[in-house]
Amino acid sequence: MQTIQVKTGSRIQFIDITSRVKEAIAQSGVRDGIGIVYVSHTTAGVTINEAADPSVVMDITFKLSQLIPHQDAYRHSEGNSDAHIKASLMGSSVHLIISGGSPVLGTWQGIFFCEFDGPRQRKVLIKVIEG
Ligand code: ZN
Repeated sequence: MQTIQVKTGSRIQFIDITSRVKEAIAQSGVRDGIGIVYVSHTTAGVTINEAADPSVVMDITFKLSQLIPHQDAYRHSEGNSDAHIKASLMGSSVHLIISGGSPVLGTWQGIFFCEFDGPRQRKVLIKVIEG
């Protein structure tokens, strides 16, 4: 298993980690198999979406914040319930098909770390399984 350190700079932020995930897969030496990218945090997630046009992830964070406001009639006392909800919506892992030592991604796809309660120092775990 490999770990990527991600330092986020604002409360809500999507960070393109595609190149770092590709590096980790290359370092694993596995040519064909499955890769799991896992975020072990309760207020952050991971998703695959368009990386070509940066306005797409801006629209995702805009709409998530509109649907799930920071302040609302939440019961959780930490004041970050919106971050927990957004993290669950995005999910804590993505699966990758690895072929020829690289993840198979569509032309426009990228892998994004999704920060919802930053800025923080975060980590992303990557497990590569040959097969
Ligand atoms: Zn909390």
